[in-house]
Amino acid sequence: MFRSPAAALLRRLAPRLSGGTVGSASSARRTLPPHIAPSVLARFSSTPTSSPPPSSSAGERDDEAEDHELPGAARLSISVDRSGLCTPPEHSHEPSSDSELIKHLKSIIKFRSGPISVAEYMEEVLTNPQSGYYMNRDVFGESGDFITSPEVSQMFGELIGVWAMCLWEQMGQPEKVNLIELGPGRGTLLADLLRGSAKFVNFTKALNINLVECSPTLQKVQYNTLRCEDEHDGDEKRTVSKLCGAPVYWHASLEQVPSGLPTIIVAHEFFDALPIHQFQKGSRGWCEKMVDLAEDSSFRFVLSPQPTASLIFLSKRCQWASSEELEKLEQIEVCPKAMEITEQIADRISSDGGGALIIDYGKNGIVSDSLQAIRKHKFVHILDEPGSADLSAYVDFTAIKHSAEEVSDDISVHGPMTQSQLLGSLGINFRVEALMQNCDEKQAESLRTGYWRLVGDGEAPFWEGPDDQTPIGMGTRYLAMAIVNKKQGSPVPFE
Ligand code: SAH
Repeated sequence: MFRSPAAALLRRLAPRLSGGTVGSASSARRTLPPHIAPSVLARFSSTPTSSPPPSSSAGERDDEAEDHELPGAARLSISVDRSGLCTPPEHSHEPSSDSELIKHLKSIIKFRSGPISVAEYMEEVLTNPQSGYYMNRDVFGESGDFITSPEVSQMFGELIGVWAMCLWEQMGQPEKVNLIELGPGRGTLLADLLRGSAKFVNFTKALNINLVECSPTLQKVQYNTLRCEDEHDGDEKRTVSKLCGAPVYWHASLEQVPSGLPTIIVAHEFFDALPIHQFQKGSRGWCEKMVDLAEDSSFRFVLSPQPTASLIFLSKRCQWASSEELEKLEQIEVCPKAMEITEQIADRISSDGGGALIIDYGKNGIVSDSLQAIRKHKFVHILDEPGSADLSAYVDFTAIKHSAEEVSDDISVHGPMTQSQLLGSLGINFRVEALMQNCDEKQAESLRTGYWRLVGDGEAPFWEGPDDQTPIGMGTRYLAMAIVNKKQGSPVPFE
C-alpha cells in the first residue's frame, strides 16, 4: 500500500471523489459554513481516539487503552457495503434444521392458513422479541454481518456532533435538550459525538440522552460503549455516561421518549431496517408479494390472490409520484413504519423545537426492488435461514419528506444530499488533516481508508490489500435529510 503524508494523501484522493463539496481539502474549506470552522473543529482533540474494534464487544474495551490505541485501524478491514445489491442470487433456501424463529414463522402461516406479507416477515425476522436477528447478539463488525459508517471511522460520529452542536446553537443554546438516537447499534456514533464535543461544556451539560433501541443485547453494548454507570440517590437510580456526565435513558420506541424539551434526533441506518411491503404489477393490477410455505415446508414468495389492506399505503405513496415515474415500475416497495415514525418525528419537532438528521442508503424517489439479506458480509437469499442474516431495504427519502411535511406547517424538510456532501461541508477534510498530524503510519492508513469509505465513490483506487477487502466508498450511495422546526432557520449545511 502506498504511504504518504496527509497533504499528499488528500491531493491524491480528492480528484477521484464525487459529490461536489469534497472535491478537495481547499474546496471543502471554501464551502464550510462560517460558524463551524474553525471554531468548532479546532477545539476537538487532534488525537485519534480508539473506537471499539469490530471484532470485540464494546464491553471488553480497556479504558486505559483509549489514548494510544489506533483510531479504528481494526474497524477498516471489511469491504462489503450492503448498499450494492438489489437482486440477491437465487438458490435453494430450505433450512437445514428449524430454528425457533423459523418454527414461529411457519406456525403463523399455518395458523392463518395463508401467506404473510413481506413486512410481517421482515419485522418478525429482525425484531421478534425472542429470536429476532437484532435481539440477542452484536451483529456489527468483522465478526458480525456488516459494518456501518460509525464503525468505519471516529470522524463520522464527530461530524454528526458538529451538526448537532450547530443546531443547538441555532436553537438558542437551550439549557436542556433531548438528544435522541434511533437504532444506535453499538453506540459508537454517540460515543464519538460525545468525545468530540467534550470541550463544549455548555452543550454536553444540556444533554438528556435518549436511545431508542429494541434489542436488550444492544442496549447493554451501548451502556458499555457510552461508559455508563448507575448512580443511586436513595431509592432513585439514574444512569449517567461518564463520557460527558449526561443522563442516559433507553426506550423501545420513539413514542416512549418524554416530550417537552427541545430535541435533536439522529437516525443512522435505522430506517433501512424498518419493514417494507412489496407490490408487483400483474394482469390484475398491483398485487402484494407474500411469504408462503411450499409443499416441502420451505419458504417461498407468492402473489396475494386478493387485494390486501396494505394497498392503502401503496396508493398513499403513489400520490407523491408522477405518472411517468409510476409507468416505468413493475415493482414498488412501501414502508408504512417509516412514514409513521417520520410523522412522530415531525410532530415532536413541531411542538418541542429542534431537528432531526436521517442518514441512510436509499433513493430520492420510489424504491422498486431493493430488499436484501446479508450474512457474514455476503449477500444471501432473503428467505434463507431467517433470523441469521440482516434484512434491509433502500430508504425512500421522497416518502419521508412528504410524510413530515403533511404533519405540520411549522417544520421544513431539507435534502437529501449525499453523505459526501454532508461530511465535506461539515469539515471532514479539516478533521482528517488534524488527525493525520498526530498519528503513526498505521493510523494514517486507517484514516485514509476510513475517509475513502465515508466520502468516496466506488472502489478505493489506492488499495493494495486483498481484493475482497477493497474499501467501497459510501459517499454517494448514502443520503442525508434534515427535518427542522422553521423557528431555527435552515440547518447546517443544507442552507
Ligand atoms: N445506527 C447504528 C446501527 C444500525 S443497525 C449504526 O449505524 O451503526 C439498526 C439498529 O436499529 C440496531 O441497533 C437495531 O437493534 C435497531 N432497530 C431496528 N429496528 C428497530 C425498531 N423497530 N425499534 C427500535 N430499534 C430498532
